[in-house]
Amino acid sequence: AAHHRDLSGPARHFVGGKVPLGLKRKALRVLVTGGAGFVGSHLVDRLLERGDSVIVVDNLFTGRKDNVVHHFGNPNFEMIRHDVVEPILLEVDQIYHLACPASPVHYKYNPVKTIKTNVVGTLNMLGLAKRINARFLLTSTSEVYGDPLQHPQVETYWGNVNPIGVRSCYDEGKRTAETLTMDYHRGANLEVRIARIFNTYGPRMCIDDGRVVSNFVAQALRKEPLTVYGDGKQTRSFQYVSDLVEGLMKLMEGEHIGPFNLGNPGEFTMLELAKVVQDTIDPNARIEFRQNTQDDPHKRKPDISRAKELLGWEPKIPLREGLPLMVTDFRKRIFGDQDSTTT
Ligand code: NAD
Ligand code: UDP
Ligand code: UDP
Repeated sequence: AAHHRDLSGPARHFVGGKVPLGLKRKALRVLVTGGAGFVGSHLVDRLLERGDSVIVVDNLFTGRKDNVVHHFGNPNFEMIRHDVVEPILLEVDQIYHLACPASPVHYKYNPVKTIKTNVVGTLNMLGLAKRINARFLLTSTSEVYGDPLQHPQVETYWGNVNPIGVRSCYDEGKRTAETLTMDYHRGANLEVRIARIFNTYGPRMCIDDGRVVSNFVAQALRKEPLTVYGDGKQTRSFQYVSDLVEGLMKLMEGEHIGPFNLGNPGEFTMLELAKVVQDTIDPNARIEFRQNTQDDPHKRKPDISRAKELLGWEPKIPLREGLPLMVTDFRKRIFGDQDSTTT
């Protein structure tokens, strides 16, 4: 880890602060937990691109080596197979803490493990951040608003969450993770950032992870019916992954703790989403209604005024532009299409 130590000292000096005129930004050592996952791997690409050195800590529960394999051999990249529920010793300047399954199917698979990951895993990463005085960013979720009674959701809304339901391991886990993050900030003076991420899609999502965009796209490509749960009138707001990654990096580098909603305010019913998928992939794709899951939030749409004002961030890619980029990647992974390019 000698090359990591070489980058210490002066690097930390400019974290979030203004880099003096004429001085190049110093490379940082950055830990990305969950960095072999969907969002994490795109973040890792950007961090390496700007010259930082990156350590990924991932237990590969829902992540895949494939997502980061293009960095193997890069001396600035290192992957450690490790479960954040266990303590770990590392030396870095910043920690992006993403480790946690995000698809309802995955986080319900072993709910107690999901809680441990969110609570013990986040505690460990905060303890690590405290010991090495690193800046810590938590990827929380719009699910902290539960089945919201306020629409769109503003960061000041405290939410409407069922504490004993099938989604609670995730919702309540993330709420506790936010609490821990603020307690380390207040108690240990740790520099922290909190992002509340709304539904995000893009290349490298697990093909069969059960989330609605990945399901519809894979189904349309395989000429299977699109499975709409319930009456299909529930809404979500879909953000393209590169917009999210830009928001996360702006949040980390900025001066504000948050929480910040990071999402695309473009709101769609599941039937409208199915229509966009039909228009993009196959106008003849059939729709099949299925029974909805328990405690499914009826609507969700971010109010992003705070991120716009304080981070100077807003998403740029609407669903109809982002979806084709994801379709190219899915087509290639499902059919092994030689002609398509991937992101
Ligand atoms: P993902 O499932 O693709 O990635 C999560 C990564 O964390 C995977 O690589 C997985 O192997 C790893 N992981 C899980 N448990 C772990 C553990 N105990 N120890 C170490 N690694 C572990 O999900 P994603 O969509 O990339 O989500 C990343 C983060 O963003 C998550 O914290 C998620 O809660 C949050 N988020 C995502 C969305 C979204 O729509 N994608 C929305 C809200 C919040
Ligand atoms: N921790 C870790 N790596 C470190 C420092 C701490 O994994 O470099 C873990 C540690 O094992 C503990 C948690 O983080 O379980 C919280 O640490 P902290 O020092 O805040 O609390 P304490 O150890 O006093 O309970
Ligand atoms: N959904 C659907 N068909 C599917 C998968 C999901 O209609 O094949 C619905 C689901 O009921 C929910 C919405 O799509 O209302 C978003 O679900 P997802 O699991 O993607 O994310 P969530 O926002 O619930 O975490």
